[in-house]
Amino acid sequence: MTKIDNLNIAEGVEAIWVYHIIKNDKSLCGHKTLDKKLPFTLWGKRTHNNEKYCKECEYRLEK
Ligand SMILES: [Zn+2]
Repeated sequence: MTKIDNLNIAEGVEAIWVYHIIKNDKSLCGHKTLDKKLPFTLWGKRTHNNEKYCKECEYRLEK
């Protein structure tokens, strides 16, 4: 099981409402992200903003 204690999520710089997984201040997929970090528990939540979640980050997390 993946440890999520040290994970955050952050919005990518290329597109709004697209989130990446942040570990040690870097996204897992290598995309640049905004400085504002959110708790990992929000990963996968969808609201009226129609958030999207990076598939590459998710894939790398599961490895
Ligand atoms: Zn990503």
